[in-house]
Amino acid sequence: MTTQAGIQIIAIEEHYLDEDVDAKINKGASGLVKERLLDVGAGRIAEMDAAGIDVQILSHCPPGAQCFDESEIERALAVNDKLKNTIDNYPDRFMGFASMPTKVPGACADELQRCVEELGFKGALTHGLTDGVFIDDERYWPMFERAQKLDVPIYVHPGPPHPAVIEAYYKDYVERWPSILSAGWGFTVETATAGLRLMLSGVFDKFPDLKIILGHMGEGLPFLLWRVDFSFSKGFRPDAPNARIREIFTNNFWVTTSGNFSSPALLCTMMEMGIDRILFSVDWPYVENKPGPEWMEGAPLSQKDKIKVLNGNAKKLLRL
Ligand code: MN
Repeated sequence: MTTQAGIQIIAIEEHYLDEDVDAKINKGASGLVKERLLDVGAGRIAEMDAAGIDVQILSHCPPGAQCFDESEIERALAVNDKLKNTIDNYPDRFMGFASMPTKVPGACADELQRCVEELGFKGALTHGLTDGVFIDDERYWPMFERAQKLDVPIYVHPGPPHPAVIEAYYKDYVERWPSILSAGWGFTVETATAGLRLMLSGVFDKFPDLKIILGHMGEGLPFLLWRVDFSFSKGFRPDAPNARIREIFTNNFWVTTSGNFSSPALLCTMMEMGIDRILFSVDWPYVENKPGPEWMEGAPLSQKDKIKVLNGNAKKLLRL
């Protein structure tokens, strides 16, 4: 199951699709990606084996339980119960992140606790905006408080841009280049913005041990860290408060390699955050499994650091 180098590989941003969520949102045409999202059985395991991936931490693809409103809360919570069943079918190969019913903010903290304590999940993963609201909004602070108390991370994952942003920034190119709204650009801008807003919100003053994960090698933030940190500090505006961007980003954030198998990006992230904050992931099935471990085999890291990225950092952060 492991790669030729014999290192265990834990991939932590790996998606699936629940049939009831699909029924609600009609995720669109069938195709290989959808087939793979729906497969939480032998086909998925075979694809993991072929790439040397030992464990997938499963999370629902966007929007997950976030598509259900208050009148459908039972369906939202059932998404997590079904994920637990999936994990139980392959307990050595799957673990899970909870899907949060973010349309019902008051339910998120308790559902997170239930998922961690009763279902054995390793944290939660949220997607983008909920009805136009970012995850830093104070309605979600009880969820962050509970995450700190349970000592589990919240994975802040992309979702599509706000319709007003699409209209103003992207619409000219959407038809020819639909990826401008997703992995090509829009997802990154949305999620970097969510990360920045969290750092500006004061949530880390209130919950200093809160742990946030960003995918896609930090959504560009490691590359921008110097400039962002400087621009929100007294060095730039002596009369402004210091937002402590660098301090928060290097204490409270972890990043993953999902869908960004770039050695220059890896080295930049390592220089800004340290190797202990970088976790391997693929972003299956939006990205093929094999290129991830193949890239890591040749990545400019010591064997010791490679082991940290491929499994050690995940074991520590998720307390496996
Ligand atoms: Mn993803």
